Amino acid sequence: MKLNTKLLHSKTNKKYSENSTLPPVFQVSAFAYESAEDQEKVFQHKASGYAYTRIGNPTITAFEQRISELEEAAGGVACSSGMGAVTISLLNLLSAGDEIITTSNLYGGTLNLFNDLEKFGIKTHFVSDLVPKELDKHFNDKTRVIFGEVVSNPALQVMDIKSVSAYAHERGIPLIVDATTVTPYVIRPIALGADIVIHSSSKYINGSGNSISGIILDSGKFKWDFDKFPALSDFKKYGNLAYLIRLKTDLWENFGACLSPFNAYLNVLGLETLGLRIEQINKNARALAEALSKTPGVTVSYLTLDTHPYHDLCNTQLNGYGGGILSFRVGSKEKAFKTLNALKFVTIASNIGDVRTLAIHPRSTLYIKATDEQAAAAGVYEDTIRVSVGIEDSEDLIDDFLQAIESANADE
Ligand SMILES: *Cc1c(COP(=O)(O)O)cnc(C)c1O
Repeated sequence: MKLNTKLLHSKTNKKYSENSTLPPVFQVSAFAYESAEDQEKVFQHKASGYAYTRIGNPTITAFEQRISELEEAAGGVACSSGMGAVTISLLNLLSAGDEIITTSNLYGGTLNLFNDLEKFGIKTHFVSDLVPKELDKHFNDKTRVIFGEVVSNPALQVMDIKSVSAYAHERGIPLIVDATTVTPYVIRPIALGADIVIHSSSKYINGSGNSISGIILDSGKFKWDFDKFPALSDFKKYGNLAYLIRLKTDLWENFGACLSPFNAYLNVLGLETLGLRIEQINKNARALAEALSKTPGVTVSYLTLDTHPYHDLCNTQLNGYGGGILSFRVGSKEKAFKTLNALKFVTIASNIGDVRTLAIHPRSTLYIKATDEQAAAAGVYEDTIRVSVGIEDSEDLIDDFLQAIESANADE
């Protein structure tokens, strides 16, 4: 099956109760049992069944299975947010004293999280790009994971998953990728060598900006060295599935960042139109990027433009999909604010992956806690406007941005 068909007719959606076409919403906290013995078996993982929604719920399972199938993963768990997923994906394998290597080119929330982890004894090294020359500068016997975004938000740096995963595997450590901005419609990171894939499914997977959620998927292929990863040692008997089993039956359960069943339902619903949305979003983003690049005084960053440093990797690894995020600089913070304020229908909001086009001034919002140096490394300047392109008609989008820029200029 090709992807658009698979989005509607998967193996897992043949299994919903009463043959319903979408998963029923089990909006409950607990599941009742006929006998204490039956309930004991479920808690001992000796019988299948549900006990309590933080630990498992059929609507949430439906969402987990759908994404797992698309990503070709061994399994996964859904979380209350993308940040919940990033946090738990790392803490499931790390212990105090361990080190992470990542890029300085990250989503603002994830950058803040790495600062928090320092206080738990987990140190992070930031490199300008995940290439061997840079990675070699920080790799040492405490390094336990490489983390990165497949396409970073908003800097649009592309990770070469094949080469980064080869580098990590040669050194006995896994690669965790945040694939939020690319989605399984564009790329399946596990097939290219990533070990753990996370998504903020609040974004393109949900698609309508109606619920916050995240998901962690395990390829089930990484060969864990349990001396090196003592956090997983109680799960040694599961071999390559140790990470997934610890996640499901230990860390994720105890951290309590479970998803609401209703939000899981909304995600499954949104997922069905992922392909249509991604196609339209890509067409619109490209058209808007071209129009902005012809506008005097404006510098645009978009992956499929010839001027973009990751243009070639976008063609080879992402099949030419530039994605829905673009950013442009207008010369000053004042002009950026004026441009945003002059937009007629494009919405000022801090989200991406919505069907509506959204724009934001990232330096004063998403990167408010970052130093100038950290913000610049993430491609965020005083005069940057980030756009998450939606599915409107591209002519209207272009008109709205061009009139807003013109009005900001006229105001001077
Ligand atoms: C939004 C986002 C997150 C965080 O997800 P939330 O659902 O907002 O917690 C993580 N990574 C990337 C790339 C994001 O865009």
